[in-house]
Amino acid sequence: MKYVVVSGGVISGIGKGVLASSTGLLLKTLGLKVTAIKIDPYMNIDAGTMSPLEHGEVFVLNDGGESDLDLGNYERYMNITLTRDHNITTGKVYSQVIERERKGDYLGKTVQVVPHLTNAIQDWIERVSKIPVDDTGLEPDVCIIELGGTVGDIESAPFVEALRQFQFRVGRDNFALMHVSLVPVIHGEQKTKPTQAAIKDLRSLGLTPDVIACRCSDKLERPTIEKISMFCHVGPDQVIAVHDLNSTYHVPLLLLEQKMTKYWTQRLRLDTLNISEADASKGADLLHRWRELTTSYDRSYETVKIALVGKYTHLKDAYTSVIKSLEHSSMRCRRRLEIIWVEATDLEPEASESDKIKFHKAWHDMCSADGILVPGGFGQRGTEGMMSAAKWARENNIPYLGVCLGFQVASIEFVRSVVGIEHSNSQEFVPELTEDEATVVYMPEIDKEKLGGTMRLGLRPTVFQTDKSVLKKLYGNFDQIEERHRHRYEINPKLISTIEAHGLKFVGRDETGQRMEIFELENHPFFVGTQYHPEYMSKVLDPSKPFLGLVAASAGMLDEIANGAPSASKTDF
Ligand code: GLN
Repeated sequence: MKYVVVSGGVISGIGKGVLASSTGLLLKTLGLKVTAIKIDPYMNIDAGTMSPLEHGEVFVLNDGGESDLDLGNYERYMNITLTRDHNITTGKVYSQVIERERKGDYLGKTVQVVPHLTNAIQDWIERVSKIPVDDTGLEPDVCIIELGGTVGDIESAPFVEALRQFQFRVGRDNFALMHVSLVPVIHGEQKTKPTQAAIKDLRSLGLTPDVIACRCSDKLERPTIEKISMFCHVGPDQVIAVHDLNSTYHVPLLLLEQKMTKYWTQRLRLDTLNISEADASKGADLLHRWRELTTSYDRSYETVKIALVGKYTHLKDAYTSVIKSLEHSSMRCRRRLEIIWVEATDLEPEASESDKIKFHKAWHDMCSADGILVPGGFGQRGTEGMMSAAKWARENNIPYLGVCLGFQVASIEFVRSVVGIEHSNSQEFVPELTEDEATVVYMPEIDKEKLGGTMRLGLRPTVFQTDKSVLKKLYGNFDQIEERHRHRYEINPKLISTIEAHGLKFVGRDETGQRMEIFELENHPFFVGTQYHPEYMSKVLDPSKPFLGLVAASAGMLDEIANGAPSASKTDF
């Protein structure tokens, strides 16, 4: 197993995740099987209880693991399926070590950060890196390890020390490190000092950079590269320039231009791995298709405008997978994507009392969109605004996709306006509502006391109830599909037949037939909701079907797309 560690210096949030994913993708184009691990040095066991406004989206995995959003990047770029164990946190390793100590596994020894915790981290990495993650079912050849935060933080110290030891455990040919740094431009001058300091910190902790990836707003100038090479004690070919691009999908190609595949091949002796001819040509084909899709998108001029009506719109990271799914879909439709951000509360009548301009602007923005998306969320704030958005789309034949909370609010709005239960709502927002009047109710099996990891989570089947379903067609006419979930509430089973009698059909349900998964509205161009989160499984070359449906309908090309624009099937990626 070859390991590539991606760490960061200077500041976080400069695209370490994209560089890690792009490196993984590049190695895949050589025909290698690549996996990825994310280390998050926080105390939480997982990201499940973290606010999206603080930490960005909570990404959900097949096994129901609630993880950091970078795992989503790896899955999307590398077309792999990860597990909860691929996200290591301080909370997870500590609880493993403490549990062992309680069992008496340390035979009377004093349990310490070094060596017990650092050993546990290394063992974890070795074990998890071997888990097959693609449809070959085989052990991967390369594992990308992204270390969250910046080197030098108190939090990450045990992980940095574990990785220092790890380079000797696995040997020089099997361990390489890419350090991502920032080159700020001050008064037009590219400054290398922060990078020099970051590399000094890294070396003082016993880690040597093989590649220094320099993030910079502009293209790195030759003298800057030479200066970094000189002061950081690496060759100029080890300094990689990553300037701001109009799309992060171009980053793998930028790395390729700077001969990164050649560098990794030599540094990690990748030629000693047996890459079959079939795998090599699959890799070459992947590169070809990646290049084609991402560059042809640059040449598309027609736009498609999607209004994203949500409650976390101040932090775009809260919707990473949703944004990516829209991007993948618009690339497929060859339309430039314009996302119109609408804060749901601004659509509410109370907003018009406090700030009329904001209220009218929000409505104006939403009404100017070709399609409306209401994504997932928790809590009541903004839900009345989301319902107004659903109503607007429903009554004006505007394409609408509701995901999870977006599915629930559109159902409530329908029950209020069409079925006639005017004060209906979700028990999440009005707990005292009775089972006769609530459109959305608490799922019986969900724990009311403990919040961490207790929702209905992960991959579960949806069975189509009819052939008259646009989503069924988009999914390729399978009777059953599987998607990822994350919710506590569901559509009230008692109201189903009444709602359906009024025209909102639950065309997809779980395997028991009791839990509603997909609705579609009759006599509307595209009014669709899913209780599951289709965004988690969208891939660059294989866009999520409900999102593809929304974008295609908004671009006026739903029939064309649904009638079989061939999709990149998972196996030939
Ligand atoms: N809050 C809703 C629920 O728990 C929706 C969840 C979501 O959108 N992920 O059911």
